[in-house]
Amino acid sequence: MSPVPLRNEKAAEAPVRSVTVLGATGSIGDSTMDLIRAAPERYKVEALTANGNVEGIVKLAKEFNARFVAVADESKGDELRAALAGTGIETGAGESAVTEAAARPADWVMAAVSGAAGLKPALAAVDRGATVALANKECLVCAGDFFMDRAAKAGATILPADSEHNALFQALASGSRDELTRVIITASGGPFRTWKAEDIEQATLAQALKHPNWSMGQKITIDSASMMNKGLEVIEASYLFALAPDEIDVLVHPQSIIHGMVEFTDMSVVAQLGSPDMRTPIAHCLGWPNRISKGRAAPLDLAKIGSLTFEAPDYARFPGLKLAYDALRTGSGATTVYNAANEIAVAAFIAGKIRFGAIARLVETTMNEWVRAGNLAPLSSADDAISVDHKARKLAASLLPEIAAKAS
Ligand code: NDP
Repeated sequence: MSPVPLRNEKAAEAPVRSVTVLGATGSIGDSTMDLIRAAPERYKVEALTANGNVEGIVKLAKEFNARFVAVADESKGDELRAALAGTGIETGAGESAVTEAAARPADWVMAAVSGAAGLKPALAAVDRGATVALANKECLVCAGDFFMDRAAKAGATILPADSEHNALFQALASGSRDELTRVIITASGGPFRTWKAEDIEQATLAQALKHPNWSMGQKITIDSASMMNKGLEVIEASYLFALAPDEIDVLVHPQSIIHGMVEFTDMSVVAQLGSPDMRTPIAHCLGWPNRISKGRAAPLDLAKIGSLTFEAPDYARFPGLKLAYDALRTGSGATTVYNAANEIAVAAFIAGKIRFGAIARLVETTMNEWVRAGNLAPLSSADDAISVDHKARKLAASLLPEIAAKAS
């Protein structure tokens, strides 16, 4: 059985749900804590985690009276312990403490650590059969089939928290898998949607960080500007819903009101709409299988919005999107390489080492080099995925100077 439950029946109201938020100090964490804050009678906070933001996590831990708090940055352990001394809240520091937070008995876990560091903690929640709201893309992009198999074996329930996948999750309930012809993920097109290729090539960090619709963390905002984020989402959708690359289409929709659509054999297309606010998909996961009403986003006012427009994606100006399909078709760890090279490229762009246009070039060169060296092999464990991730990062870093030096 798929760990993503494709039909939902309303359930008897759960009395109190215990929740853990991994990455509580981030953008997704913030929206999640907002929803929990709005219904304190419904939720009991088991564990909260951050990387190094001690001040932020301590504030949350006290407000929500968490039982356990962890920071991944080991050097911040003493500071965390001192700040929570006398509160009765247990603390931990280091990567293993974040994994321990995920392993503690909470009914529902938000997996919103950013980057590949989110994989092990998410697996710890999956392994104990928890309900996991999955925001972290890298779990699927890096570990893909292996992550979903492990969730199915452990009896875990995976709820897609990313807005597009949550939209597909909701729309998929209208038919069965064999009645599906394709899914359509929408993309805002980002800040460079109408820019010429030569201008995109030279875009600055400040320009890349100006997302027209969504307010998100830095890495994902840059990924949205390059459309690498949409590539990551195509890969995510493929693993989450067991879809072939040809069953997933991307449609540029600048207003970000329709988040995803599913087309069925009778050519009915079922869409999910909502204002661009991550609280909506997170609320769907938090209340699932029921709907919640507290702390929700503003209602959608379509009369005020007036028109919804659509465009085909331009793979020439946004080559990172096409590379995601190539990685999916290649399989055997290629999507892990795609993600790892992109993380190195984005960090280099933020550090001013490469131009914006070089992000996709570094990803493409790393993928080609990986295949050429005969490194492709199926992933069968988290350690496999992490090892490919590390090696691909090293390879991308070694190719960086050559890519940085090359003109477009
Ligand atoms: P942010 O950068 O805003 O937050 C990341 C969170 O993870 C913070 O709590 C951060 O702690 C923590 N963290 C960072 N590095 C580590 C590490 N090495 N070990 C443990 N914890 C770490 O990211 P977002 O909230 O934007 O995104 C989180 C995930 O959700 C990403 O995978 C993203 O792709 C995905 N996502 C985000 C969306 C959005 O709208 N923001 C939409 C859909 C998916 P600290 O604060 O201490 O640094």
